[in-house]
Amino acid sequence: MSMQEHVATSCPQCNKPAHGDRWATVNVTLNPELREDVLTGKIRTAQCPFCATRFVVNHHFLYHDMERRFIISYQPTESGRSQPIPSAHLALMGALLSHYRLRFVTSWNQLREKIAIFEALLQDYPVEVIKLLLGSEIFDTPKFGNDAIYFLERQTDASGAIELVFQVFEGKKYLTDARSPLVAYQTLARGAEKQFGSPHGLGEWITVNQASLYNSPNFVSRASKQRAQQNALANVCYTIAYKLLPKRLYSEPQKTLLTFTLKGEGASFWYEIGCQARRRQPIEEDRRSFNTFYGRMATDVDSYILEYPSPPPLNILEFQDHLTHPVPSRVDIDTPVLAPYFSGILHRKSDHHLRYCVLGQGIGNRATLRSVGPNGQEAVLGFSPEHSLDAFVGILHSFASGT
Ligand SMILES: [Zn+2]
Repeated sequence: MSMQEHVATSCPQCNKPAHGDRWATVNVTLNPELREDVLTGKIRTAQCPFCATRFVVNHHFLYHDMERRFIISYQPTESGRSQPIPSAHLALMGALLSHYRLRFVTSWNQLREKIAIFEALLQDYPVEVIKLLLGSEIFDTPKFGNDAIYFLERQTDASGAIELVFQVFEGKKYLTDARSPLVAYQTLARGAEKQFGSPHGLGEWITVNQASLYNSPNFVSRASKQRAQQNALANVCYTIAYKLLPKRLYSEPQKTLLTFTLKGEGASFWYEIGCQARRRQPIEEDRRSFNTFYGRMATDVDSYILEYPSPPPLNILEFQDHLTHPVPSRVDIDTPVLAPYFSGILHRKSDHHLRYCVLGQGIGNRATLRSVGPNGQEAVLGFSPEHSLDAFVGILHSFASGT
C-alpha cells in the first residue's frame, strides 16, 4: 500500500517551518494515479504556507510496482554517492520478496530511469553495460559517473529495428541522445545470464549503476590467444589513425601528404611504422590491405585518405570487460579497440589549413567520426550508418564544402 509520513522541513525562501505529510511509499499497482507524479517529481515538491514558494523535499522514498515485481528505494545522500544501508525493515521485505527486483538509487533521475527500464521489460545490468559502452565513446573515458546517461525508452527505427534510446548529460546540461540496437542489449543479457545464472539479482537489495559495474566480477574471461592476434592488427591501425598519422601531419604536413601520392608505397609506409610502434612483425597479407587515395574536393581543397583493413566485428562482451577491468597499459598486450576504417585529411591550399578525421568502429551498427587536433585532442563529430569508402568520401565532401 501507499503510505505518507510526516516530514519537518523549512522553506528555502523564507526559512519558516513548512511541515507536512509526504509520500514515503507509493504502490503504483494500487494507486496508479500517483505514478505520473513520481515521474514528474511533483510528488516530492511542497509549497510553503507562508510565502507560497514551491520547493523539493529530499526525503527517502519507496516505489513499488507489484505487477512488474520491483521496488526501488530512493535514498538521498549529501554527497550524491551511493552509500545506502538497508534498514531492518528493508531486509525483512527483501526476504519476503524473493521474486522481486529490489534496487537502491541515489538520485531522482536514477529512480525515473529504473522505472523506465523495468517498465520496458529490460534488465538493468545489461542496460548499464550499454551505457558504459556509449559513455566511453562520448566522454572518452569509461568513468563518467552515475548521472550522465539515462535510459529513456525503446524505439523502432525506420527499418523496423528496435533501438534503446538514452539521454546524455554533461553536468546538468542535456548533451545529446544516444542509441544502441536491441541486439547489443540481447547479447549482453545472454552474457549476464551465463555469468550470473538465471534468474539473477532477485530478492536482494542491490545498487546497479555505473559504479557497481566496476565492482562486479569479470563478465568474460580474458581474451583468448586467437582473439589477441586479431586485436594486434586492429591496434596497429588504431595507433596509426590516432597517434602516428595526426602527429606527423601537424608537424610535417608536406612530407606527410606526399606519402599519400605514392600509391602502394605510401600505404606500406604507414603500416610499417605502425608495426614498429606496436613492436609487431609486418605481415605481407596485412600490408596489402592498406590503401591510399588522394583527389580534389573543392577548388581550393585537396583530400587524402588512408584505408585500413576491415577490422573484425567488435566483440561487445570483450570490450565491456576491457573497460571495467583494464589490464595495465603495455604496448605488447593487444586489448580490444574500436578500430578505424579510414583516416581522412583535408588540405586547403591557399592557407595550408588542415583537417584530420577518422571514421572508426562504434557501438551498435554505426561508425563514429572523430577528429584529432594538433595537440592530439580528439572529438566526436558524428555517426555514420555506413563505413564504405564512398560514404567516407561523402563525409569529407560535406566538410570540404563547409570549410
Ligand atoms: Zn516560505
